[in-house]
Amino acid sequence: SLHSLADRELDAELTQCRAEFDALKARGLALDITRGKPAPDQLDLSAAMLALPGDDDYMIDGIDCRNYGELAGLPSLRALFGEVLNIAPESLVAGGTSSLETMYDVLSFAWIHGMGGAGAPWSSSPVKFLCPVPGYDRHFAITEAFGIELIAVPLLSDGPDIDVIRELVAGDPHIKGMWCVPIYSNPSAVTYSEQIARDLLSMQTAAPDFRIFWDNAYAVHALVGDAPEVLDVLAIAAQVGEPDRPFVFASTSKMTIAGGGVSFFAGSGENIAWYLGHLSQKRVGQDKINQLRHVRFFGDAAGVRTHMRKHQQILAPKFELVTAALRRGVGGSGIASWTDPSGGYFVNLKVLPGTARRVVALAKEAGIALTPAGSAFPSGNDPQDSHIRLAPSLPSEHDLRLAIDGLCTCIRLAAAELVHS
Ligand code: PLP
Repeated sequence: SLHSLADRELDAELTQCRAEFDALKARGLALDITRGKPAPDQLDLSAAMLALPGDDDYMIDGIDCRNYGELAGLPSLRALFGEVLNIAPESLVAGGTSSLETMYDVLSFAWIHGMGGAGAPWSSSPVKFLCPVPGYDRHFAITEAFGIELIAVPLLSDGPDIDVIRELVAGDPHIKGMWCVPIYSNPSAVTYSEQIARDLLSMQTAAPDFRIFWDNAYAVHALVGDAPEVLDVLAIAAQVGEPDRPFVFASTSKMTIAGGGVSFFAGSGENIAWYLGHLSQKRVGQDKINQLRHVRFFGDAAGVRTHMRKHQQILAPKFELVTAALRRGVGGSGIASWTDPSGGYFVNLKVLPGTARRVVALAKEAGIALTPAGSAFPSGNDPQDSHIRLAPSLPSEHDLRLAIDGLCTCIRLAAAELVHS
């Protein structure tokens, strides 16, 4: 019968996929595409920075960078990155070496002290955060570490689903915050439209101290062409009467030294005063030598853009390689789809619902380490079990090709197992 013929075809398909997978395993690969780390040749682009500021070059803006002080960071660096991030220098703090640490600090200050004025410490009642999904696992992890309840909201092609969000924040005073990556989002590469940004900044919230953690980690990280114009969120927030709503973050982790660059925090005058007030209990000043070396290395905002084009030249071929290998391996089969990002650090792969964990497990068996399935969701829970985040930046092109070809074998096997079950 037709039915048994179809069954026999499925059997044959499964047998062939198993054979391909066994051959893959036999190659004994040891590949890792788990995290969005820059490759060594990208880090080399900033090698000259490590020789700066050099002997006898410690003064800038009338400040001796070797001494305490300037908790808000070097004025020259605030001006330089103010131009890059479209933020007035007086609204921008140049801080330590990690923006994630700044986010953790800001949340800690809110937790312990509240937002100032009449606002109670956030620790005094249950707190919930909105998390556009798929999103950045380390954002979710910070809030989870505080026992904050995470509410997943869909991330659409022009930003988070504003209708869903409006209803949630209007009705629940415990929703105090929201994670956002407005440009080349991790991992979807979605860039928010100006309209969505305005809606998020102006919507009615039941919590008077609602804050958007606006992490502009990939503002200038284009893979194709030029990065989009950066919205002046602080100006928009002020215009719509919610000047204190956005907390803006950024860093040079994926420009200069990952984890050893400079991080930035921006906000309203009130928010800056609040942040620096609490930060002053933690440290006396910033590492201005590191900040000076960034000023000297980049020179100006155009220097940042020139530098980012060099990153683009290294990264773009890797992303092209990934999407070409996926097209070759699983294209047109209906068992996988993926993003073709114009910026950021990730390809977001979608496999048949119910197979993402299996694909990651198979890949691991074959010596290909992938980000755990579900990691782009609060508590690692992808309700569809279909998302896998690919990070093409770190491996060589040779290893990347092996990894994605192997991944395609795993996707095919997991799909064959599913339809056969
Ligand atoms: N924010 C986002 C959205 C990221 O994807 C990353 C790194 O992957 C970071 C922040 C890390 O930033 P930092 O190195 O400044 O802590």
